[in-house]
Amino acid sequence: MSDPKAFQVAVVDDDPAIRRLVRLLLKRSGYESIEFGMGEEARAQLPAIAWDLAILDRRLPDMDGVDLCHQLKSDPELRNRYIIMLTGEDDQEDKIQGLDLGADDYITKPFQYPELMARIRAAKRIVDLQKELLETNRRLELLSITDGLTKLYNHRHLQDELARAFEESQRYQRPLSFVIVDLDFFKKVNDTYGHAIGDEVLKAISSIFQKSIRTTDLAARYGGEEFALMLPETMLEDALTFAEQIRASIEATPVMTNAGAIPATVSIGVATVPHARIHSAKELIVAADKALYRAKKNGRNQVQAAEPSRAARAKGTDAA
Ligand code: GH3
Ligand code: MG
Ligand code: MG
Repeated sequence: MSDPKAFQVAVVDDDPAIRRLVRLLLKRSGYESIEFGMGEEARAQLPAIAWDLAILDRRLPDMDGVDLCHQLKSDPELRNRYIIMLTGEDDQEDKIQGLDLGADDYITKPFQYPELMARIRAAKRIVDLQKELLETNRRLELLSITDGLTKLYNHRHLQDELARAFEESQRYQRPLSFVIVDLDFFKKVNDTYGHAIGDEVLKAISSIFQKSIRTTDLAARYGGEEFALMLPETMLEDALTFAEQIRASIEATPVMTNAGAIPATVSIGVATVPHARIHSAKELIVAADKALYRAKKNGRNQVQAAEPSRAARAKGTDAA
């Protein structure tokens, strides 16, 4: 269903004459179709292919169409697909059972072409509406986890993802690094050039993060002029190398704004688990924050790592 305008109809009927007829009718209306002569074939293949509407014959040689309908609708992925049952004229019970077990509509055999096509058009209206709704939901969901100015993830999403990644790193004994980046003397940029230019700088710095991370990493706006990078499967040493690259590249490239080129530097704090004194995502953040504080205190424009534990220091290792 990659093309939202396409409407793919699956026809499941053992009668080749009906399949041919429906195929021609659908084609004339510009709809695509796919056909199945047996219920089992349809049951096996429909979950794996894109279709919007299925027209199911009630009486299939190998299966009751109502059961097929029920099975398809029980699949969470297929729950929203539209199904029209084809039933015999006097099967009043069948119609009720079919609708109760998930069919969205039915049409009786022998059917009139105009009625079938009208019901298909009605189905398409509902399917189109549903697609729009799903798309709107998807956009809203993305909006709710995105920072409006920088288009990075927002603080809340970072918290959620870090909690999840922390759990995972504990369970599988895998390293996880967390990096906090804060712009140096950013207040001065605002005071000198104005807030709008300050915003431009924040956006430009954000795009550096976005370009530097791997697909499994996550970059977020942590607060005003503070950013966070979550790096799963990354040991302290590699996280420090990465942080240093980012620091150096920000220092080396002034941000081009409407007020001209503005130089910027950042201070960075890095913390990694496993670490003997870090037992929660919150403690990981605090450790990175403390390292950032040290970077500021030591003169800014630098990267600092979280203090190793006493035991690790004695052994000469960074973490644990
Ligand atoms: P330090 O090196 O100690 O971090 O100095 P600083 O000036 O960067 O830090 P401070 O916390 O004193 O000031 C942060 C500034 O960031 C002040 C605030 O106006 C600015 N800021 C926060 N959010 C935004 C924003 O969305 N847009 C703009 N333009 N500025 C912002
Ligand atoms: Mg700052
Ligand atoms: Mg700050």
